[in-house]
Amino acid sequence: MGRLAVQDRKTLEVDAVIGADGANSCVAKSIGAGDYDYAIAFQERIRIPDDKMVYYENLAERYVGDDVSPDFYGWVFPKCDHVAVGTGTVTHKGDIKKLQLATRNRAKDKILEGKIIRVEAHPIPEHLRPRRLLDRVALVGEAAGYVTKCSGEGIYFAAKSGRMCAEAIVEGSENWKRMVDESDLRNYLEKWDKTYWPTYKVLDVLQKVFYRSNPAREAFVEMCADEYVQKMTFDSYLYKRVGTWESSGRFEVGFQYHWKLDGMHLERRNRFSV
Ligand SMILES: Cc1cc2nc3c(=O)[nH]c(=O)nc-3n(C[C@H](O)[C@H](O)[C@H](O)COP(=O)(O)OP(=O)(O)OC[C@H]3O[C@@H](n4cnc5c(N)ncnc54)[C@H](O)[C@@H]3O)c2cc1C
Repeated sequence: MGRLAVQDRKTLEVDAVIGADGANSCVAKSIGAGDYDYAIAFQERIRIPDDKMVYYENLAERYVGDDVSPDFYGWVFPKCDHVAVGTGTVTHKGDIKKLQLATRNRAKDKILEGKIIRVEAHPIPEHLRPRRLLDRVALVGEAAGYVTKCSGEGIYFAAKSGRMCAEAIVEGSENWKRMVDESDLRNYLEKWDKTYWPTYKVLDVLQKVFYRSNPAREAFVEMCADEYVQKMTFDSYLYKRVGTWESSGRFEVGFQYHWKLDGMHLERRNRFSV
């Protein structure tokens, strides 16, 4: 009987629909929202011995290199009483298990005797859907494509977009005195794009510049050793805003590393052209 109930198609009359149904969103399909390119993220939850867990008490690890991902990064993130070990890729989806193995190997000593308790794999959107709104239907979270490049962060943006969309509906309805229309939902999209477009754009550029090869990733790691860069990164994560360089001196950091990156490429090209 329960199964029958699930299969029953029922009609529900509503004022507006917020599609928060993830990467394979039915709501997106129903409004012809179009597809997005996606990455595959693969993650194993591993319970490790208590003495090993101490190492991850105040630490998350990111691994970079062609072995763990040719275009993203591998990670070990502590999750309360276990760690999540994973990796992602857009360009080499068929190799995801091999990349995962390499990530696990990188952390080998630290997760020794660990027991895999759950395996997760999922598509992660690479950009916004071509359409996020039609009439009184709007998409939020991964259904809309709100995952940042470079970090792959989506939880905050899913929650925030849901809230922003709901607020636009409440405001547009004038406390339920009028029926909302597309323009009310468009207010949510406009506010969203205005607030977060720079964040998405900057992280997109960073990913393209720094995740494309091993030398580029080396330069990225080196750049991250700079305290100022660390502060900027931390603030950007915390406040969900890309930072602006404080003074002209700070441009040097960016310039220096761009130059270094180009230098590495030149050096590499020369080596190959001999
Ligand atoms: C391996 C991995 C690691 C990640 N790590 C991080 C991280 O460390 N930090 C971070 O910020 N983000 C991370 N992300 C991304 C993050 O998980 C997502 O961006 C976020 O969960 C998106 O939230 P959402 O609510 O839009 O979609 P989802 O979390 O996918 O939720 C959608 C919900 O809709 C439900 N649903 C779908 N279809 C229907 C239907 N027809 N009827 C009813 N319900 C339906 C689903 O069951 C689900 O509960 C990771 C993703 C993966 C795959």
